[in-house]
Amino acid sequence: MKLTILGCYAATPRTFTNPTSQVLEIRNRLFLIDCGEGTQVQLRKNKVKFSKINHVFISHLHGDHVYGLIGLVSTFMLLGRTADLHIYGPVGIKELVTMQLRLSNSWTTYGLYFHELESAESQLIYEDDKVSVRTIPLKHRIYTNGFLFIEKPAERKLNVEAVSKYKIDSIYYRKIKAGKDVKLDDGTVVPNIALTFDPDHPKSYAFCSDTVYDESIIPFIKDADILYHESTFLETETLLATKTMHSTARQAASIAKLANVGTLVLGHYSTRYESIEKFADEAKTVFPNVLLADDTRTFEF
Ligand SMILES: [Zn+2]
Ligand SMILES: [Zn+2]
Repeated sequence: MKLTILGCYAATPRTFTNPTSQVLEIRNRLFLIDCGEGTQVQLRKNKVKFSKINHVFISHLHGDHVYGLIGLVSTFMLLGRTADLHIYGPVGIKELVTMQLRLSNSWTTYGLYFHELESAESQLIYEDDKVSVRTIPLKHRIYTNGFLFIEKPAERKLNVEAVSKYKIDSIYYRKIKAGKDVKLDDGTVVPNIALTFDPDHPKSYAFCSDTVYDESIIPFIKDADILYHESTFLETETLLATKTMHSTARQAASIAKLANVGTLVLGHYSTRYESIEKFADEAKTVFPNVLLADDTRTFEF
């Protein structure tokens, strides 16, 4: 699982910082999460292939999470894209994009599918043979969802030495990786455990931005390997955080601790702070395993 931060600052784009957008890669699938202004440029800088983006997840319709979307949709068209593009986001996202396309008298060369969300409950919104995605209902000034990406268990790993020792034909490898035992010509049954190794532990990634401190999300993100939780403010601005329905670094760390996650990634920093190091310092007083998102920073989990 590889997470590339394209932008992780709140509100306005600046010379060296970008609003929220990130790319999550899970077993060769790319998912774009939020699409703030400048996302295309950031995708280019990070050498992310545009053609590999088929699913875009938008948390909410505040500009710092979605104003890059029309540009991306339009560029896909100019590049002659033909593959379908699926956009998941709050009700209104279809209108937001199609109104701009209509007024500029343009249309896409590819299938553009909107999956509009309005439920206050957690829902399964995407599933394939490798990954599933559920919404995490968040509390913010407008309707907002986080997203929980869960890897499906991988197939078992072939023990190459063992299969050659038993002289097993390669046509059986798929079945072996799926967990089947093998019956040899002399009738002996070789148990699967002797032919394979355990697969890597399937990982999960929870994206939670933007939200006020809210313990009701804990059941949805419990034991997640990685939690990205917004930390717009430091503790000194706790009142402002509550008023604007954002969180502090300390509050993000409390959620990480209560949810027993593996690693906390902080982001969505207010541009009022000179340096982001203080966010990590503050969070680490509550929860030890903290990483700081920053634009163009990449994490492999
Ligand atoms: Zn925001
Ligand atoms: Zn917001």
